Amino acid sequence: MKIRHYTKSHRKGKGRNRRGRKVPFFMKQEPSAWPAVQNPLFESMREENHIILRPDHNISRKNIDKEALKVLYRLKDAGFTAYLVGGSVRDMLLGKKPKDFDIGTDARPEQIRKIFRHSRIIGKRFRLVHVYFRGGKIIEVSTFRKQTDYDDREAAREELANSDIYGTPREDASRRDLTINGLFYNIANFSIIDYVGGMSDLRKGIVRAIGDPERRFLRDPVRMLRAIRHASRTGFEIEPVTWKAIKANADKIRLCAIPRVRDEWLKDLQSGVSASWAELMLESGMLEAVFPGFKPVLHGDRGKETVDMLLKMLKRLDKLLKTEKQNIGEELQLAFLAYPFFHFDPEWRKLQSEKIRWPTYEARNLLHEIFHPYDFRNMISDQAAQILASQWPVKLCSRRGSWPKRVWSKMTFRDSVLLFNAAAASQGLPEIEDEPHTTVREGTNRRNRGRRRPRGKNRRQAKANNRKQKCS
Ligand code: ATP
Ligand code: MG
Repeated sequence: MKIRHYTKSHRKGKGRNRRGRKVPFFMKQEPSAWPAVQNPLFESMREENHIILRPDHNISRKNIDKEALKVLYRLKDAGFTAYLVGGSVRDMLLGKKPKDFDIGTDARPEQIRKIFRHSRIIGKRFRLVHVYFRGGKIIEVSTFRKQTDYDDREAAREELANSDIYGTPREDASRRDLTINGLFYNIANFSIIDYVGGMSDLRKGIVRAIGDPERRFLRDPVRMLRAIRHASRTGFEIEPVTWKAIKANADKIRLCAIPRVRDEWLKDLQSGVSASWAELMLESGMLEAVFPGFKPVLHGDRGKETVDMLLKMLKRLDKLLKTEKQNIGEELQLAFLAYPFFHFDPEWRKLQSEKIRWPTYEARNLLHEIFHPYDFRNMISDQAAQILASQWPVKLCSRRGSWPKRVWSKMTFRDSVLLFNAAAASQGLPEIEDEPHTTVREGTNRRNRGRRRPRGKNRRQAKANNRKQKCS
């Protein structure tokens, strides 16, 4: 009997890939017909010095997400070009853990869809493919393209042929926002491909728009917010021409869709570097452009104090986000951002009272004014209003040293104390404890704490007893 040794090479039959897996029909063509022709591309790039080979950079496959690697290899094995693109390459070069791993390829959405059984094409004009993995993980795969929907609105209105949308990797790099975001990691030889000068900007610590900043920002003003975001996250300098274009075009941000701008600044508020973000936003004039409701206070007599308090509050928020991110909700983040504008608002100051009262209605109106034109979920804005409104009762209780249940039993009480302490620290005032109602002050009668007031018959009985005691 003939013994057959089963080796890797046996598995590489017709219609099977490198790993011996069956491949879809369109991959069974001759290699020359495959869409990815990598060799000439490599040669030309090598000449132009666009490739940074593996020994000259620090990206290791160990740091790449397992599922993203799977997608990259499957695309490569099917004969396509597959690059890791965008923020993940930037973050790994900076030695940080990327938030998400996006993949760029020359395979068309239908081809990608056929390679990955658990995938779906999303989007109308620029169709992306979402590849699904166990545990709900999604890897986004997009075909290299020439321009974005923001770059060419005229074209977006017309039905263009696919060949007009999709482009080469070089075109894909140049439609991106910043040079540090335009780098590719090639899974074929573990090199980095740099068409836009991102590597040298990363080394020098520079945030620079790709192409002419003025033109790119006018096409999509959200790119100005993105430049400020990455400068504050990395601590990089914004390159002078890019900075000048941001200052000159800050007010163009109002041309963008309101929910899109809101999502962008909310992302910055919870980035953990919101204080340096706010500083850059202020300096560039973007803060007033994004929040027109801040203007009256910023231009008022106490504008300087407001800015000072805002930066201190955001520093505290960043600290809290670093230590207990899961407990800091969007409502508290909004309250931190809004607090200085409440604090210096004369109408708000008039609401201070000697009675325990929550001016929630007034807080909701002021919040609406400050954050106009942005909308939030009702629950978020209601809770943010309650946290802000609770600052008066918390102040009164801390002064009196007594904490009635109707104050501490509120769902937002913990957030109220966090905001109160941040505001106190920003003014150099003493802070209170995290759970002030649980600590017993010296001299207070422990037995009476938390006792319910007698009601109905018992109350009448208690009153009669009191009267008797007084008479005797
Ligand atoms: P993050 O760490 O927040 O995910 P990111 O740079 O990866 O940062 P994404 O929103 O995930 O940001 O975008 C992925 C990539 O898409 C970016 O790196 C950039 O190259 C490109 N991009 C995103 N928005 C724009 C835009 N408005 N114009 C041009 N390119 C953009
Ligand atoms: Mg990203």
